[in-house]
Formats: sequence, structure tokens, C-alpha cells
Amino acid sequence: MKFNVAIDGPSAAGKSTIAELIADKYNLIKIDTGAMYRCVGYLINEKNIDVNDEAAVLTVFNDFDMDIKVDGTILLNNIVMNEKIRNDKISMLASTVSKHLKVREKLVSLQQEIAKNKGYILEGRDIGTVVLKDALVKIYLEADVNIRAKRRYNEYIDKNMQVDFKSIEDDIKKRDYQDINREHSPLKKADDAVAVDVSYLTIDEVVEKISNIIDKKLGE
Ligand code: C5P
Repeated sequence: MKFNVAIDGPSAAGKSTIAELIADKYNLIKIDTGAMYRCVGYLINEKNIDVNDEAAVLTVFNDFDMDIKVDGTILLNNIVMNEKIRNDKISMLASTVSKHLKVREKLVSLQQEIAKNKGYILEGRDIGTVVLKDALVKIYLEADVNIRAKRRYNEYIDKNMQVDFKSIEDDIKKRDYQDINREHSPLKKADDAVAVDVSYLTIDEVVEKISNIIDKKLGE
């Protein structure tokens, strides 16, 4: 049976790592929807556009060619973005730009188009509430902010990036606030999502917990 899985939750809760492992286990294709918002943030930065100016922000779509390869890799204008979109500046721009309704509409329709044939795991902020309302399984990952900041700090250190713990923690808190309080599609647990607090669980334990939820649904 082909099915979709939705994983939502705040920044640095481990959504991407967990989604990757669940995708491997159940032969699903993982789509990192945050990367799409980061690509918009990246273009805004390149073009020096005011992120709060919705009309100006929309002009980036004139130069926005997004492709999703069969393995889920996201290409912006034929280039895999990876590290270029993984820094605090682009994180914050992505969070701020995602408040604009027209930006969301465009990216949500791309995401729905990809996932319509099922067999996908999408991770983001509004997957269970908006993008894949009919996903077989919806998970809401949450974790203590200090633990999330430590994880993000260690990731950056592993990549030899120059980082400061306090500014990472502040960035996460600010993005949490923006994502939870925005008008359109704010971050929230869907009523039919299962909340999993990952603060004190190992990655293997989280995968096991989610696998049990998926197996139970598949057996129904
Ligand atoms: O998941 P990631 O941290 O890469 O997402 C970057 C930003 O993109 C988030 O802070 C959020 O504001 C926005 N986003 C969103 N909806 C999604 C995924 C990400 O609004 N489905």
C-alpha cells in the first residue's frame, strides 16, 4: 500500500534526520519543505530584497525554478542548494518570508503536486494541518528549546562553522515565535497528529516509536 507521512515540529527538533530514517525504512521519498522556504530566503538575500515587502518578495518567483528530483533532492535553478541555505541568516529569512500567503500558496501547491501519488514523507511546519491533511500518519516532533539549540550547535561545530551557542538558541526561539504566531498556516500540531517528545530519546528510540505508529496504522 502506498501512503504519505507528515512530520511537523519546531526548528531543530530533528525532523530531517528522523524523516530520512523513516523514509529508508518504509521506502518513502523524503521532501524537506523547509528547504523550499530557505531557497526563497536565499534568493531574497542575493537580490537584496526587503523580506517584509510582499510585492517585492513575489518578484523572486520570476527567477525561481524549483525542481524536485525523484530521490527528493531539491534544485533551485538546476543547482542543489545544500550548505548555501543552511546558516542562521537564511534560516531567519526563510521564517520571515514564509509569513506571506502568496509564497505559501505557491510552495504548498508544489508540495501537494509531488505527493499526490503517495509514497512520500514530507517534513515541515504545516504538513499535517494544510499540505497533507489526508496523510496516513501525522507526527508532531517536539523537544526542549535548550536541547534543540545544543543539537544545532553540535551540527555546526561538526561542519567546522564558527558559531556561538547563545545566538543559535536566540535564533531558534525567535523562529519558534514567528512560526507559531504567524497569521497563515502557523506551526501547530494537527488534531489527528501524534506528538512525540524527543528531548530525552535517542534517534533509534524515536524511529522505533514512529515505526510502531506507522505499523499500527498499516495494520488497521
Ligand atoms: O525546517 P526549516 O528550519 O528548514 O524551515 C525554515 C523555515 O521555513 C521555518 O522556520 C518556517 O518558517 C518555514 N517553513 C514553513 N513551512 C514549512 C516548512 C518550513 O513555514 N512547511
